[in-house]
Amino acid sequence: MKTILVTGGCGFIGSNFIRMTVANRPEIEIVNLDKLSYSGNIDNLTDIESNRYTMVRGDICDLQLLEMIFSKYEFDMVIHFAAESHVDRSIDHAMVFIETNIVGTLNLLETSKKYFSKRKKKNFRFLHISTDEVYGSLKSTGTFSESTPYDPSSPYSASKASSDHLVRAWFKTYGLPTIVTNCSNNYGPYQFPEKLIPLMIINGIENKPLPIYGKGNNIRDWLFVEDHCSAIWTVLENGKIGETYNIGGNNEMKNIDTVKAICKILDEAIPKNNCSSYNDLITFVTDRPGHDFRYAVDTKKIKNDLGWTPKESFESGIKKTVYWYINNDQWWRKIKDSKYNQKRLGLI
Ligand code: NAD
Repeated sequence: MKTILVTGGCGFIGSNFIRMTVANRPEIEIVNLDKLSYSGNIDNLTDIESNRYTMVRGDICDLQLLEMIFSKYEFDMVIHFAAESHVDRSIDHAMVFIETNIVGTLNLLETSKKYFSKRKKKNFRFLHISTDEVYGSLKSTGTFSESTPYDPSSPYSASKASSDHLVRAWFKTYGLPTIVTNCSNNYGPYQFPEKLIPLMIINGIENKPLPIYGKGNNIRDWLFVEDHCSAIWTVLENGKIGETYNIGGNNEMKNIDTVKAICKILDEAIPKNNCSSYNDLITFVTDRPGHDFRYAVDTKKIKNDLGWTPKESFESGIKKTVYWYINNDQWWRKIKDSKYNQKRLGLI
């Protein structure tokens, strides 16, 4: 058996990662450390009934707690998802991004270093989950490779960039066996309703406007969340210590086209009585400050060195996703009904 620490496992990607790991890897025991911030949702994992899964509610900024759980569970790996993750929110409330994304990561690195130098666990890994947004914005051509210089635009991406540098420094200076992954935009089940794809699906279902920044020409590279999780396992098992791997879906889409693809599926799944299209709900709103124009990820390294490629096409992944939100409305309605989230989502 191997015991892994997953931070932020009640969030979107972390909960998908835990669900897939419990289902497919009987040799793994998971401890999930999550503060349950607004985007962390205990309901994401209520269906997991396994004696190989333990939830610890706590903050990665709490050093004492980290030391306690490291000595109690003797982790073989750390997979670090926990973060403040919403760009819009980072523009209004930067400080919490600095605390969790930078100081929290530093605490985890320090605790891992102490623990690793005492135990020298063979095959210990610290995998830091990061984003392609650290590379900044592309014009209409080119892609981000692992050697693209960092040029973050938002407080979110700047805090993630900073944490990536810390992780690399802990490898170079202290020999902590770290790996960094930088992934493109994810989509799929259990994503908090403030992000583009769930927001558009849910607003469509509720017959509300579909607000798109600017003219919807910004381009994102979309990856189905389960493909991200399979890439994480590939990197954990076969990735080289000290390296960085970019992960992407090779699915570049203008935001407007992403929203139209969602509308098309809604048109088929829940046709409107008057035969109009969900496209009619699209509205354009003032652009976000510092809005990156385009992200595109060069995935040659993970493909050639580790043999990973995504399985899901955008067409199949987005269909699964739209139907998941249609069939699991109790999940997102509960989030939207909480007073706290109503305020966050601008509903009151
Ligand atoms: P999310 O916001 O859905 O989940 C974040 C989780 O971290 C939540 O469960 C939250 O409660 C927890 N958390 C926040 N602060 C914490 C703290 N101080 N201590 C302990 N737990 C804390 O985010 P996500 O979309 O699942 O993203 C997970 C990771 O993947 C992040 O590091 C993000 O930067 C990275 N990433 C996300 C995407 C994407 O498209 N969503 C793409 C690339 C990389």
